Formats: sequence, structure tokens, C-alpha cells
Amino acid sequence: MSEIVRPLRKKTPLALEVNQVHKRFGDNEVLKGISLQAHHGEVISILGSSGSGKSTFLRCINFLEIADQGTFIINGEEIRQTHDRHGRQHPTDWKQIERIRSRLGMVFQGFNLWSHRTILENVIEAPVHVLNQDKYEVTEQAEELLQKVGLYHKRHEYPSFLSGGQQQRAAIARALCINPKLMLFDEPTSALDPELVGEVLKVIRDLADEGRTMLLVTHEMNFARDVSDHVVFMHQGLIEEEGSPDRIFNHPNSERCRQFTSQFR
Ligand code: ADP
Ligand code: MG
Repeated sequence: MSEIVRPLRKKTPLALEVNQVHKRFGDNEVLKGISLQAHHGEVISILGSSGSGKSTFLRCINFLEIADQGTFIINGEEIRQTHDRHGRQHPTDWKQIERIRSRLGMVFQGFNLWSHRTILENVIEAPVHVLNQDKYEVTEQAEELLQKVGLYHKRHEYPSFLSGGQQQRAAIARALCINPKLMLFDEPTSALDPELVGEVLKVIRDLADEGRTMLLVTHEMNFARDVSDHVVFMHQGLIEEEGSPDRIFNHPNSERCRQFTSQFR
């Protein structure tokens, strides 16, 4: 196994600090107390079998799901929440949520591009129509981002004329166009044909090398091992083991973690 070249965990300020996140759907307790910190510039991969709660955890971080319990400090701001009489919590200030969400770049498994808008229109949509930024300036930035992900020449095409890999690269450009402080990737290559995975991983690797802060749910074990500062292995709604890539992939304490990572080799 090759040596891990990423530096040890960076001691920069925290981009994300979540504590004791719980979430249930009916009787199904999907998250049973998850805590995680991400420093600025850090790449954290989240591994775990299907159903272990990875997506729900990411969705709780950008409040697409509301956690039943847990505290969230995102870019230094604690999310204001209150508890109802059943002990469940709710955000009290949706303007705060919107503001924080507007600096979170989310990339899903499916590309979720607007089919009736061109690639460029997709990329500028949120900054122009949600963040009310100047359309001319955003367009310039969007064109630079499309250049960076290798899609400048496709900017006036509609999504259906692009391959899955190109659509996902466009989705990454769109997430970058809001100047996110934190990027959340949920299995960004899982829906792609195998021959298209590499081009998307390359874009994500470039973002890691640039020092972007990222949480990445993935089943690409070699990629996670190479690109991450820290790796989290989830099992049944809990963090079963976490540590450096070397620890998780070469010397895990947990037998489950060892079995999980070895099945993808
Ligand atoms: P993973 O991403 O690790 O595969 P998920 O977070 O998607 O796991 O799902 C964890 C569990 O939560 C699964 O049992 C799933 O069926 C359940 N679940 C996820 N979202 C919902 C929902 N909106 N309603 C009910 N159950 C859900
Ligand atoms: Mg998932």
C-alpha cells in the first residue's frame, strides 16, 4: 500500500462543529449521536454501508432534514434552535439557516440540474436569483469555473446533451459559484458509468488540493484514502471508527471497518 501524502489534520479554525446529532424517522433512529469537527481546508471522507445514515447526516448539516437533537456551529455561527414539548428541536431563525446554507455547496449523487436551462444558466442561478448578485460578475465567475471543470465549451448546451460525468462536473461548478465555505458531496460518482468516474474525481481532487473544506460521502476507497485528511466510518447511525486514512485503511481497530474497506479493494 502506498504512503499517504496528505499532511496530518490541519489546526486551522473550525468550519464545522456538530455535536450529538440524533435523527429518527418514526421508530427508526437513523442517527444516534454523531459528532464531527471539520477544520478549514480539511477533507473528511465519510464511509459506511448503505443505510448507515451518511446522507441523513449530510442533510442535517444543511437543514434539508431537521435533527431531533444536536448542536451545529457552521463557519463560527451556532444555529439557533428551540425545543418543543416532545423534546424535539427546531431552528428558530430560518433567515440564519438560509444565510448559512447559501455558503454550503452541495453535490448529490444525481446531478439535479435544471433541464430547461443551459449549463451556464444552471451555474449562475443561485448567485443571481437567490443571493441577488450582479449577473454580469457572476457570469464571468461561472465561465471561469466552467473552464476549470473543463466545460466552458458546453456552457450554452442543455444538460441532456452532456454525459453524466459532464453533468456532475457542471453540478460541481454550480456548487462552487456560491463561493462555498464548506462543500458537501454525497456519493458524487455513484450514479456514473465506471468510465466517467475518473473525470469527476479529478475535479474533486483539484478542489482538495486547493484547500477547500469538504465532507465527502463516497464508496471510492482509493480516492478517499488519497485525498482525505480524516476518515469517518459510520455504522448503524454511529461513528464506529475515525482517524487518519492510514489508521482507517491500514490499521483499523474495528473489525467491521476493516471488512468494509477491504471489500472495495
Ligand atoms: P446512507 O446514506 O448511509 O445509505 P441514509 O441516511 O440514506 O443512509 O438512510 C439511513 C436510514 O434512514 C435508512 O434506513 C433509510 O431508509 C432511512 N431514511 C432516510 N431518509 C428517510 C426519510 N425521509 N423517511 C424515512 N426514512 C428515511
Ligand atoms: Mg446515502
